[in-house]
Amino acid sequence: MRAVCYLGDGRVTLEDVPEPKIEQDRDAIIDVEAASICGTDLHLIHTEGALAPGTRLGHEYTGKVLEVGRAVRCLSPGQAVLGSSFVACGSCRACRRGDHWHCRQRRMLGTGSAFGPPLDGAQAERVRVPFADIVLSPRPAGIDTASAVLLSDVLATGYHVAARGAVQAGDVVAIVGAGPVGLAALLVAELCGAAVVVVIDQLQTRRETAMDLGAVATDDGVSIVRELSDGWGADVVVEASGSAGGLALAQDLVRGRGTLAVVGAPSQSAALDPVSLFEREVAVRFVIGNPISAREELTRLVRFGPLDVTPLISQTLGLDDAGEAYELFAQRATLKILLRI
Ligand SMILES: [Zn+2]
Ligand SMILES: [Zn+2]
Repeated sequence: MRAVCYLGDGRVTLEDVPEPKIEQDRDAIIDVEAASICGTDLHLIHTEGALAPGTRLGHEYTGKVLEVGRAVRCLSPGQAVLGSSFVACGSCRACRRGDHWHCRQRRMLGTGSAFGPPLDGAQAERVRVPFADIVLSPRPAGIDTASAVLLSDVLATGYHVAARGAVQAGDVVAIVGAGPVGLAALLVAELCGAAVVVVIDQLQTRRETAMDLGAVATDDGVSIVRELSDGWGADVVVEASGSAGGLALAQDLVRGRGTLAVVGAPSQSAALDPVSLFEREVAVRFVIGNPISAREELTRLVRFGPLDVTPLISQTLGLDDAGEAYELFAQRATLKILLRI
C-alpha cells in the first residue's frame, strides 16, 4: 500500500510500504478515507534527527474500520470512525481522569519518538490504531469528511485552549497566529461568548480568513487590544504561533489577572518573563488538545451546526499530491490541506 514517508532533509515522498497488521488484541486497522497535514509534521521533518528516514507521517485522519483485534468490543468492520492524533490505554489513572495525553502508554501517530514510542502515521491507505475502543468512535451521520479529520486533532486543540484558557461570555480575547489552530481557537472562543476576538498574523490571507470568521484581524495587535479593552489588555490571550516573537507579544497583550494560554509548541528561543507575569498575576497555561475527551461535545457542536469548521480547509488534494501539499503548507500558502486517500 502507499504511505507518505519522511525521506530525510525536510523532504517527504509517497512510498510502497508493507500493510499494517493487527499486532495486539485491542488494535484496529483503518482504511483511511482522508488525512491532513499539520504544523507538527512540518516541524518534525525540518528538525534534524527528529524522525528516522522511512517514518510514515500523519496523525489527522478519518476512515472506515477494516479489521479489529479479538478484544475490540465497540467497533466492527465497515464502520466509519472518528480518530485521535494520539492513542492512550483508557484504563490507567490519567485516562480515567480524562487526561489521555498523560497516559504512560501514549503514542502519537506519525511523529517518530517525539511523543512516545513510534507508531506509523495515517497519511497512508491504511493505518493500525491501538486501543481502538478508546481512541476511535463511530462517526455519526452529519459529520462530513473534512470535519471528521479536523476532529482528530486541530479542533480539539482549539476547544481545549478556549476551555483551559477559561474564555467567558463578554471577554476580550487575543489570538496570536492565524494558522489552523489559531482559527479553531477563534471559532470556539466565539462559541464561548467572547465579546470580541482580535487575531494577530503577519499574512494578509490569514487575516482575511480570520475576519471572515468574525474576528478583528491585525498585523500588530497591541494598540487594538488596548483600545478594545480600555487600556487593560485582553482577558485571555492564546499564543498559537509557536514563535519567540509571538510569545513575547502574547505576554504584552494579556491583562493583569488574565490568562495566557500557550498552544503553539514553543520554539527553543521563546522565553517567559516571570517578573512581569508574577507582578500582574497572569495565569499561564500550556495546552495540548485531547481529541478523545473533547469528542462528544465537539461532535455535537459540528453536527447540529454552531461549529462550521469547513473554512479551515483551504484545499483538497489526492495522496499522489502529498509532496506538493507539504510544499504549499510549508510556504504558508494554505490553511489545512485535505488529502483524499
Ligand atoms: Zn496535528
Ligand atoms: Zn492510560
